[in-house]
Amino acid sequence: MDKDMQGLVAQMLHHRSGGLEKGDPVALPLTSATTFHLPDVQGAPYIYGRNGTPTWDAVEAQLALLEEAEVVSFPSGMAAISAALFATLKAGDTVVLPADGYYVTRVLASGFLAPLGVRVVELPTRSYATADFNGVAVVYLETPSNPGLDVVDIADVAARAHAAGARVIADNTTMTPLLQRPLDLGADLVVAADTKAPGGHSDALFGHVAGRDAALMARVRDWRRLSGAVPGAMEAWLVHRGLETLEVRLERMCATARLIAPRLAEHPMVQALRFPGLPDDPSYDLSRRQMADFGFLIGLTLSDATVAERFLERCAYLVRSTSFGGTHSTAERRARWGDAVPAGFIRLSVGVEPAEALWEAMAEALA
Ligand SMILES: *Cc1c(COP(=O)(O)O)cnc(C)c1O
Repeated sequence: MDKDMQGLVAQMLHHRSGGLEKGDPVALPLTSATTFHLPDVQGAPYIYGRNGTPTWDAVEAQLALLEEAEVVSFPSGMAAISAALFATLKAGDTVVLPADGYYVTRVLASGFLAPLGVRVVELPTRSYATADFNGVAVVYLETPSNPGLDVVDIADVAARAHAAGARVIADNTTMTPLLQRPLDLGADLVVAADTKAPGGHSDALFGHVAGRDAALMARVRDWRRLSGAVPGAMEAWLVHRGLETLEVRLERMCATARLIAPRLAEHPMVQALRFPGLPDDPSYDLSRRQMADFGFLIGLTLSDATVAERFLERCAYLVRSTSFGGTHSTAERRARWGDAVPAGFIRLSVGVEPAEALWEAMAEALA
């Protein structure tokens, strides 16, 4: 993590410190009020819980520091993605989506955007490098893609998309603003599921949209207030707490992934392995340029579904569950959801367990 990013993380940890009065709680109070004292309507910081709350403001202040952008929070990653898409698309527009990205985004687009007259084009993440974006309104990208872990050059896609008159939305869930900065590379909006590493404890659904174009962000904010996709107070509070340790958790998770990935890759039971931090991975060179670290997700392929399930069952420190980015290492066979991957493909999310203890459990289960 470079010096600028270290400064942002330190500022994020202290974002409340400067404003504290004698006797104020150091930890963020959880404010669950839906209405606020409103003797007259002018100048009130809070009015009604669907418009804004102190707890959202606190978590948005943290995320805004990390993103160096305006942030609007949402009750889930999908709520953030919906807001970004509905704020930027209209009937007759074309949106490009990754065919190998988070599948719910594609289902949302085909099920709800297409019937409203938006043309939905799906492209494999790899072919974004050569795609023609003429006539496209929104180029939506996800890098590294979930679950395949292919990487696209955000700056190159943004330059070509902008030249064609398109806007760029980047799903930065797998990296977080600490590891990858799509807005600095030209993306117009970042969307992210803070349900994953930022919350980090598998107990809160949350999401956000970040951007530096005030007019566009005003539309995203309007979408939240008008659609009613508002975060809960408890979830905002939990993510505020999670963000305080995001940097230390990521450091451990990424370091362990870098240690374990090459060991898994060399293991005779492993047929294929995707990790952007392996020098022979097709994403390696670009990842080194574009990301501050290689993340905590590993895609490994065992010979078939039975062998993969048996490995997961026998590994004491892998929780068999969907989702990723939590303190516990988790893993699942993605083909069980119908992802276009081999039957023995496992997406592994490395947690914060001490690395050698985790590796020992994996090696034992593989043996
Ligand atoms: C999980 C995820 C989402 C959706 O987030 P939710 O909080 O589950 O709605 C979106 N994009 C990616 C890449 C994800 O991994």
